[in-house]
Amino acid sequence: MELSGKTALVTGASRGIGAAIARRLAKVGAHVAINYATSKDAAEALVAEIAEAGGRAFAVQADVGTMTGIEAMLAGCDAIFGAAPSVDILVNNAGIGGAGDSGSLAKCSEALFDRMIAVNQKAPHFITQLCLERLRDGGRIVNIGSLGGRSALPPFAAYAATKRALQSLTMSTAVVLAPRGITCNLVAPGAVDTEFNSVLIERPGWVESVEKLTPMKRIGVPEDIADAVMMLVRDDAHWVTGQIVEASGGLFL
Ligand code: NAP
Repeated sequence: MELSGKTALVTGASRGIGAAIARRLAKVGAHVAINYATSKDAAEALVAEIAEAGGRAFAVQADVGTMTGIEAMLAGCDAIFGAAPSVDILVNNAGIGGAGDSGSLAKCSEALFDRMIAVNQKAPHFITQLCLERLRDGGRIVNIGSLGGRSALPPFAAYAATKRALQSLTMSTAVVLAPRGITCNLVAPGAVDTEFNSVLIERPGWVESVEKLTPMKRIGVPEDIADAVMMLVRDDAHWVTGQIVEASGGLFL
């Protein structure tokens, strides 16, 4: 299989987009570390589902919004994957937004702002930093950004700013790791049907308005994003680095 013998760490993989990415990587042979913060049952169910399908995965609990959480997550990976370098693929996926427009320019609280910076911006920086020695040459980093990272989105202003920062981190990481043949790219999803958007999805007319704006005429599903990640982790993506790949059905905000 395409990724047999390779290891992968996916942050925030108990549900939503991260779970779809973990499933996709395991399906083609990768041994996958499934990080989660609170959804123990969901993470363990995903590990069992992957094992049942003949794949390999394990769950690792950690709040990546803190340095102690990041260190604990990587220690958990070292214990299973072995001494560095032992990671082939890192997917910085864990992310939070505010429910509805609670992260808007007008309403965002300091606490929500700080938490979004910690999980969406600080975590990918320090996970990447601590993975510099853990990544094998020829490895892959994929950061999960958002279309919001390049758009004016006042209802999600604080969130969008963290995703803009992630674009910058992606480009710096690509330059630092290029001599080792390690690529770093960012997948920017459009609107995807996950719990992340539950408040918006329940709002009458919201899904229809997204569908109308999307040339492919539907809201995204987590598997759409997992497919885009897969495209970037294959061997033949070795010359693609520092790029922002929008996976949005053509949605142009
Ligand atoms: P989701 O359904 O809310 O799932 C979030 C995942 O991240 C869960 O597995 C959650 O774990 C984990 N997580 C949250 N905070 C964490 C923390 N501090 N430490 C470790 N794990 C944490 O979200 P999603 O829609 O799949 O989003 C995944 C990524 O895609 C995010 O970076 C998001 O910004 C980005 N994105 C999503 C959309 C969209 O429309 N859904 C669009 C653009 C970009 P627990 O279950 O344990 O809490």
